[in-house]
Amino acid sequence: MKDCIFCKIVRNEIPSYTVYEDDIVKAFLDISQGTPGHTLVIPKKHIANIFDYDEELASEVFARIPKIARAVKASNPDIKGMNILNNNGQVAYQSVFHSHFHLIPRYTNNDDFKMIFKDNSKKYSPDQLKAIQESIEKHIGD
Ligand code: 5GP
Ligand code: ZN
Repeated sequence: MKDCIFCKIVRNEIPSYTVYEDDIVKAFLDISQGTPGHTLVIPKKHIANIFDYDEELASEVFARIPKIARAVKASNPDIKGMNILNNNGQVAYQSVFHSHFHLIPRYTNNDDFKMIFKDNSKKYSPDQLKAIQESIEKHIGD
């Protein structure tokens, strides 16, 4: 797509610190390093977000993520873990609308990356959970 910043990175019209690429994906350092080594993995094909993947592209892209994650981890012995994050839609903090997966190396529990889940484990009754489950289940394969 002409004006998409990540398509421009795919076409090398904008420079990037690329760590891996092949015919399907490109992986490069996020310009804003959440923690050192923060890497983005994108499909070369422009698609906006997770809702637009077909199974073939999904399997091709997801199949490549573990080997890129292992390389990032191997790059620094201080990396103890990794969060893999994929934001879909503005409400979910997506700011670049070309699908991408954040590989965020974790050094300590107290490094520069924070993710907060409220404990809502007591908020929903079994009936409410059942209703949510059924409303999702009936749309699988839509
Ligand atoms: P999002 O918020 O959409 O999940 O993440 C978009 C990410 O793209 C951000 O973390 C941002 O720092 C990164 N980003 C935006 N523009 C560029 C760019 O031109 N080059 C690189 N390498 N990363 C970018
Ligand atoms: Zn694009």
